[in-house]
Amino acid sequence: MDFKSSPEPEKLNVAIIGAGIAGLTLAIALENHPLINTTIYEKATELKEIGASIALGPNGLRTLERLGLNDVISDENGYRGTGTAGMVYRHWKTNEVLGTDVHADVKEWLHQTTRFHRGHLHGKLAEHVSRESIKLGKKVVGIEIVEEGVTVTFADGSITEADIAVGADGLRSGVRQALVPGFKLKWSGSVAFRSVFDASLVESIPDLPEDSAHWWGPETNFFSSRLGRNMYTVVGGVTVDPDDPDARFKDVAWDDDGDVELLREDYKNWNPVVKALTEVTPYIRYHPNFSCSGPLDTWVFGDRVTLIGDAAHAHGGAYATGGSLAIDDAYALYLSLISVFPVSAPERPSLKEIRNALELYESTRRPHAEKLLKIVHAGNNAKVEKIQNGKGETDEQLRERAAKGSNTAWLHEHDVVKAFAEAQGVYKGENGEVSDISARL
Ligand SMILES: Cc1cc2nc3c(=O)[nH]c(=O)nc-3n(C[C@H](O)[C@H](O)[C@H](O)COP(=O)(O)OP(=O)(O)OC[C@H]3O[C@@H](n4cnc5c(N)ncnc54)[C@H](O)[C@@H]3O)c2cc1C
Repeated sequence: MDFKSSPEPEKLNVAIIGAGIAGLTLAIALENHPLINTTIYEKATELKEIGASIALGPNGLRTLERLGLNDVISDENGYRGTGTAGMVYRHWKTNEVLGTDVHADVKEWLHQTTRFHRGHLHGKLAEHVSRESIKLGKKVVGIEIVEEGVTVTFADGSITEADIAVGADGLRSGVRQALVPGFKLKWSGSVAFRSVFDASLVESIPDLPEDSAHWWGPETNFFSSRLGRNMYTVVGGVTVDPDDPDARFKDVAWDDDGDVELLREDYKNWNPVVKALTEVTPYIRYHPNFSCSGPLDTWVFGDRVTLIGDAAHAHGGAYATGGSLAIDDAYALYLSLISVFPVSAPERPSLKEIRNALELYESTRRPHAEKLLKIVHAGNNAKVEKIQNGKGETDEQLRERAAKGSNTAWLHEHDVVKAFAEAQGVYKGENGEVSDISARL
């Protein structure tokens, strides 16, 4: 291998594996750096997203705004409803509002929780990345770290070399698998029934809430929301005992075609709004819920490789926060890299500086992600225990739980820049200087 034969030896070559939300966000941030070459390697042969919805909370929205991506988070691309609550919880039978998650400290309209068609969010992000830097049809199957750099091997037999490689390749990360071969994913026993369709189909439904709604029932929930660009989404689902070898849906695969009649059947006794929504839903697709079975021991491999987004900490999508986490991971890694390699740097960072940057990224993000994984696993285990013990929730308990809401301000309003400054040891308190930290680097 000749790492010195790179056409631009003075630049730092960063290989990003995966052109999803994390990979695109990182590329957008790094492309502004005149001394960094970024290349994204994506296994798909075209850039597109599955037809499902995705929410971004104030944390992810703020970060995209910091990157100047106002068109991505605009009201045209995403839907904010009345902008008064992150989530509204309703009763499955009566449709009454039981609780709301109100943001604790979100003043700007653009930072209010926003819901998108995944394709619209992804497509808009992709518009900000230079097309030549995205290599399609490049599925990573191996990664080797040597002193001079990283060698990435693809399923088509080709290889590439880089100074740093970032695994942004999602839930079933090939980079993670190559570096941590024993790592396992875990099925929670839940399968979501998802659909996205034109909002014209719901316009005649009486009493349809303007804000996104989560109806909580004794055994399952139902979610519906308008999305940007006049789309609408519904999400139903079931939870079964994942340890039961005969469990329903045990063998469904990601994004499999589903049976919409099943959705209608499962929700036929719910309140008239939910029932009407299932009747206009034209199709469903199945999405089994997998997460990392536990936290990784490290996010830094051989001084030159790290993971971001679902590759580092897939939590199964609970609290609709995976997209924002991926965005904030990308931004924290960007801040960490420019802290050792500012645009004015006279030379490339040393290997030790690269390692310091990757460790700084890890200490900015890992405690936050692990806190979430712990909460999610505890919640999943409790659900399965309820099924295994055959002990459902009483209506009173359900109402009590919904009234409390999700208590997720720590998650949705997390400030990655403040966390980065804390990890760096330069955070100066609430009125300190963190807001302009990226300008100082
Ligand atoms: C149906 C669905 C609904 C969701 N809803 C929400 C929501 O409402 N709110 C929310 O915050 N989060 C939601 N999530 C989770 C959120 O989308 C993820 O957490 C987020 O997309 C993670 O981004 P990522 O870039 O890490 O991974 P991904 O977006 O999965 O991107 C990974 C990319 O890597 C590519 N890739 C995979 N393997 C390889 C390989 N070996 N070589 C090269 N490329 C590879 C993939 O093709 C893909 O393009 C949802 C996820 C799904 C799928």
